Amino acid sequence: MAETQLLSDDITTIEVLKRLVQEFVDERDWGKYHNAKDVAIAINVEAGELLELFEWVREHEIPALLEDEQKHRLLGEELADVILLCLNLASVAGLDVAATVGRKLEKNRAKYPSEIVRGNYRKYTELRAQSKKEQGRGPA
Ligand SMILES: [Mg+2]
Repeated sequence: MAETQLLSDDITTIEVLKRLVQEFVDERDWGKYHNAKDVAIAINVEAGELLELFEWVREHEIPALLEDEQKHRLLGEELADVILLCLNLASVAGLDVAATVGRKLEKNRAKYPSEIVRGNYRKYTELRAQSKKEQGRGPA
């Protein structure tokens, strides 16, 4: 399809992507199968296919995997499957993607204050407890 060849992160809006997904679904009359639960399940199935590309790959092998043309293409295709279904779920559930992502990012900023979590992957509850403990100690 000519329109999809012109897509790029620089110029394509989320609204356009949502419309293209909706057109794909409508052309196949698949909307009747796309309730929020089943689309959420499909997202997980596709996320599993994405993970399968990394199954048993050692950490030091990941750069070579990403440089392998065929594997890189497959990674893009599985990522696209996840994104397509996420856009579909947003449409089915009546969610504005940009507004929803923006709100969640703000919530995550509050949940993971950079002064507490910077450079640390541990769960925020553990880090907050540690931070409170350190604040309670006072000066030595
Ligand atoms: Mg797939």
